Amino acid sequence: MINIKRVAWELELKVKGNTLKYKQKLDDWQWLNREETLELQQARLKALLKHAYYHVPYYRKLLQENGVVDAKGNVHMSQFHRLPLLCKDTIKHHFEALKSDDLDSRTPFEESSGGSTGVPITLIQDKEFLDWSLAVKMLDDEWTGLAMGGRRAFVWGSVRDTLVGKETVKTYLGRWMRNERWLNSFRMTQDRMNEFIAELNEFKPVQITAFAENLYDLAKFIEERGLYIYTPKAVLTSAGVLYPHMRETIQRVFKAPVFNRYGSREVGDIACECDHHNGLHTSTVTHYVEILDENGRPVKPGEYGEIVITLLTNYAMPLIRYRIGDMGVMSDESCSCGRGMPLLKDVIGRTTDIFINKNGDRIDGRMFIRLLMSSAFIQKFQVIQERYDRIKIVVDPAVKKLDHYKVYAKEIERLVEDARIIMGGDCEVGFEFVDYIETTASGKYRFTISMVH
Ligand SMILES: [Zn+2]
Repeated sequence: MINIKRVAWELELKVKGNTLKYKQKLDDWQWLNREETLELQQARLKALLKHAYYHVPYYRKLLQENGVVDAKGNVHMSQFHRLPLLCKDTIKHHFEALKSDDLDSRTPFEESSGGSTGVPITLIQDKEFLDWSLAVKMLDDEWTGLAMGGRRAFVWGSVRDTLVGKETVKTYLGRWMRNERWLNSFRMTQDRMNEFIAELNEFKPVQITAFAENLYDLAKFIEERGLYIYTPKAVLTSAGVLYPHMRETIQRVFKAPVFNRYGSREVGDIACECDHHNGLHTSTVTHYVEILDENGRPVKPGEYGEIVITLLTNYAMPLIRYRIGDMGVMSDESCSCGRGMPLLKDVIGRTTDIFINKNGDRIDGRMFIRLLMSSAFIQKFQVIQERYDRIKIVVDPAVKKLDHYKVYAKEIERLVEDARIIMGGDCEVGFEFVDYIETTASGKYRFTISMVH
């Protein structure tokens, strides 16, 4: 059966586009050394900038003004950093001007995304983007040990992807062909979790692709009740932040290595772990990744900053220096696997809200990430500004069923004091333990929320 399915799938891909061709390129390119892979990336980035200059009205002006592309069409990479960052608002306001003038020849389609801030945006994507995206996914899957056509279960919570009753015959056929089983984790009740366990044990997937948060919840459910669960070859987590304690729990319960992947609807999969687990290899031929500080300057490897993406495969509506809305940190180390693609060491999701205090000072919410991330007793947190002179730190503790206020009294006192210093001396700081912090529909959650502006 597997052979028939796989043949059907390969045939579909061949008829429809270049996915398999691109996958073959990626098979080779993944082994380029650091210098070679960055050189190839620069060439692809230049090609995109040239295209944007000649075919995209919005960029033509910007590229010229900032000296990135001159009148003869020469690209000057030394000026690239001068290009303004692209935010969701800009895409909304300049939607028409961001479209390539040769759109009709590119099999374009509209893609609506919740985006990382929960504000929906619409983009134009094209067939080339899709083909490359699929090829990257196939490569990532191979890294986890899942060959094309191997059994894979999705524990996936996207409302749109898996809306019950909305699946068409085509959807079902596609899933059958690709040997996929979809478990909708949008709402995880106890009954649903029991069903998931039964399905996974019956289906015996080679790999489970999952929302990090959902699989972590399922793992805890299994462990607390001492239930049996089938051991897959690997778990691939995507969408949402995978904290170390989540990875440990998932690995312990499923007895399989966890591979973390980072991506979004707007730009596809940006980075994925290989089986050496030294961080996430950025997909250099499809994405140019920058990590910037509050002033838009690149941070050093090892330092947290805002992730800014230039998507190298979507010519229909180029996204150049796109603020994806997440924070991350790059490593300057090389992976022991031998692949040259630079490593993204950590992604912590969400750009944070800026807080404005009573005096009108703007306080970068990232200060709280640095403060609260370092405390071992905190599993998750959220900082909410309720008034100009009051914030509240909400914490989901790592260890449950304790008298938290008593056990962690000293730590709380220190955090509250530090938070007050960050906000300015006369700011009130509340502290509260909760059982659960809600995530957004895309499986992520906001570190800081301001209610006052
Ligand atoms: Zn590696």
